[in-house]
Amino acid sequence: MKGKVFLVGAGPGDPELLTLKAFRALKTADVVLHDELIGPEILSLVPKSAQLRSVGKRCGKKSVPQKEINALLVQFALLGLQVVRLKGGDPLIFGRAGEEMEALRHAGIEVEIVPGVTAALAAAAATQIPLTYREKSSALVILTGHHSDSGLSNWPASLSPQATIVVYMPGYDYQHTAQRLIAAGMRKSTPCAVISQAASSGEQVFRTNLQALPQAPQLAAPTLLVVGEVVRFASHDSLRQPEKWRALEPNLISLAEFSERADPQEQSE
Ligand code: SAH
Repeated sequence: MKGKVFLVGAGPGDPELLTLKAFRALKTADVVLHDELIGPEILSLVPKSAQLRSVGKRCGKKSVPQKEINALLVQFALLGLQVVRLKGGDPLIFGRAGEEMEALRHAGIEVEIVPGVTAALAAAAATQIPLTYREKSSALVILTGHHSDSGLSNWPASLSPQATIVVYMPGYDYQHTAQRLIAAGMRKSTPCAVISQAASSGEQVFRTNLQALPQAPQLAAPTLLVVGEVVRFASHDSLRQPEKWRALEPNLISLAEFSERADPQEQSE
C-alpha cells in the first residue's frame, strides 16, 4: 500500500506556535524531511524511531535540489511510509509546496497540507502591528524580494498606499527595495519595519520609513519587511531593539495623530 505525505507548516520557530495537527503528524511520522530553519525544539518532537533528514541549505552548503526532494518524497511514500515534509511558517507561502504536490499527484500519492503560522503573522503579532486597519489598510500584499533565476522578482506595477505590504526574503539592498516600492506608488513617508527572527529569543525590530530605509542596519536573518501606515501602530514596548537604534529612527507619529491630520496634502507626502 502507498504511504501518504503531509506537507506540514512548523510556524515561525516557537514550538508553542505549532498546531496540534502538526504535532500529531510529527509524532506519527516514519520519515521527516525538514528545512534548515526548523529549530531543535521542534525537531526533538520527532520519535527516535523515525528517519530525520535535513534537505535545507546549511552553512553555505547547497540545499538538496528541489527535484531530488520531490523524488525522495515519492520514493518514501511508495515504500508505504508516512512522510512529513516539514517547512518553516506555512507550506503554501514561498514554500515550494506547489512543486512537491505536483510530483506527488503525478505519482498518485495522497497529500495532506497542515497549515502553519506564516512569518508575516508571527512578526505582526510580535510587534503588535495590525496588518489591516479599518479605513487605513484594507489589503495585505505578500511579496518576495528574492530574485528568481531569471532576474528580478515580479512585483505588481502599482501598489496602493492603503495596503500593507509584507516582503519576505527582503535581502539587504534596502535602497533598491525602497525605490521599487516608491516607484509602485507608496509614499516616501510610509512607515516600515524590518523584523528579524520573529517569535524567537533573537527577535529584533527596526522601524523607519521608506525614505530612510536605505540607512537601516542589517539585522540577522531571517528578516521580514513590513510596509504601511499600520506600522505606526507598533507598540514600542513590544519592540526588542538596542537603545542606539531609537536614535536612528525617524520620528513616526502615531496612527491616531496621523488620522487626525486634516491636510490631505500633508498625508500624501
Ligand atoms: N513558508 C515560510 C516562508 C519561507 S521563505 C513562511 O510561511 O513563513 C523564508 C523567508 O521567510 C525568510 O527569508 C524571511 O523573510 C521569512 N521568515 C521566516 N521565518 C521568519 C522569522 N522567524 N522572522 C522573520 N522572517 C521570517
